[in-house]
Amino acid sequence: MRLQSELPCLFFVADWHALTTHYDDPSVIETSTWDMLIDWLAAGVDPSQATLFIQSKVPEHAELHLLLSMATPLGWLERVPTYKDQQEKLADRDLATYGFLGYPLLQAADVLIYRASQVPVGDDQVPHIEMMREIARRFNHLYGKEKGFEVKAQEAVKKLGSKRAKLYNELRTQFQQQGSESALEQAKAMLDDAQNLSMIDRERLFGFLEGSRKLILSEPQALLTESSRLPGLDGQKMSKSYGNAIALREEKDVVAKKVRTMPTDPARVRRTDPGDPDKCPVWQFHVVYSDNATREWAAKGCRSAGIGCLECKQPVIDAIVREQEPMHERAQQYLDDPSLVRAIVADGCDHARKLAQDTMRDVREAMGLSY
Ligand code: SF4
Repeated sequence: MRLQSELPCLFFVADWHALTTHYDDPSVIETSTWDMLIDWLAAGVDPSQATLFIQSKVPEHAELHLLLSMATPLGWLERVPTYKDQQEKLADRDLATYGFLGYPLLQAADVLIYRASQVPVGDDQVPHIEMMREIARRFNHLYGKEKGFEVKAQEAVKKLGSKRAKLYNELRTQFQQQGSESALEQAKAMLDDAQNLSMIDRERLFGFLEGSRKLILSEPQALLTESSRLPGLDGQKMSKSYGNAIALREEKDVVAKKVRTMPTDPARVRRTDPGDPDKCPVWQFHVVYSDNATREWAAKGCRSAGIGCLECKQPVIDAIVREQEPMHERAQQYLDDPSLVRAIVADGCDHARKLAQDTMRDVREAMGLSY
């Protein structure tokens, strides 16, 4: 929530992504989409500061996904760790589909289309961000700057005379091979080190390098927050599709029931058996929700069998219920009048679409498709 007052933030419901795992039952998607938007508003996303929208209302995401798919090596998608992991976890569904394999690429299009600089993610998503960076780099390398650079390189060599040609060619190779910000930085460092280059020549080369840099897509960074990953009720990754999640606006007694039935350290069979918090998913919830004193009480009580698991779980239940109370209150106005959410999302979609169209104009032009 802090982020929205520091940076322009975009939050979107990835309804197309939901189809990658629920293609055979799309009926749940519409209700879940509106529910999720109310969740975000309830959690404190402020539509006067941030943009809220729905992925499928900005069809440019699909166009960029398609264009990126032309040049994305299959191996990049197959090696994304969550691909195999999810296939194993959702073994009851047939996920040997093209859409499921392409999920991280659609995700890349979702981010790259806004030229986002930072993406708040859990640490399991870091490989996806890495892949987005590679995709952006590859795109810029293939379509972004080479033609411009060749022309400018020739001009520069002419203006600077043959004695500078060697240095210039080295710079060009650096820049062309990687086509990225880091290559540009390296090239500039080489210029700084170059002996007997007059200030004017140096300035001119700097100018050429900058001018020939035409990065159409920017490389995003992962923005990891503390406790960026809260495990699910079973200790695995929390996900609605794994059925191990606590929703943001859950009824009190449902929260209590879900936490009370959470598995604990398997070694604690009887109340008198000591346990090990590190082997218990409930402990991860204490790490996120409890203060130091409560954590100490839980850890000590667990190891000495001084407390029972139900006792240990109660402060977690109380903390979750406390956290959710104001969300229930904020959500009520949107539940009473759904047209409020519709209006917020319509504005958000308009704004997102303008940004996406700007990027797509550059992408089409770079790929020679702007006829
Ligand atoms: Fe887990 Fe707490 Fe039970 Fe220990 S006492 S096993 S931390 S629920």
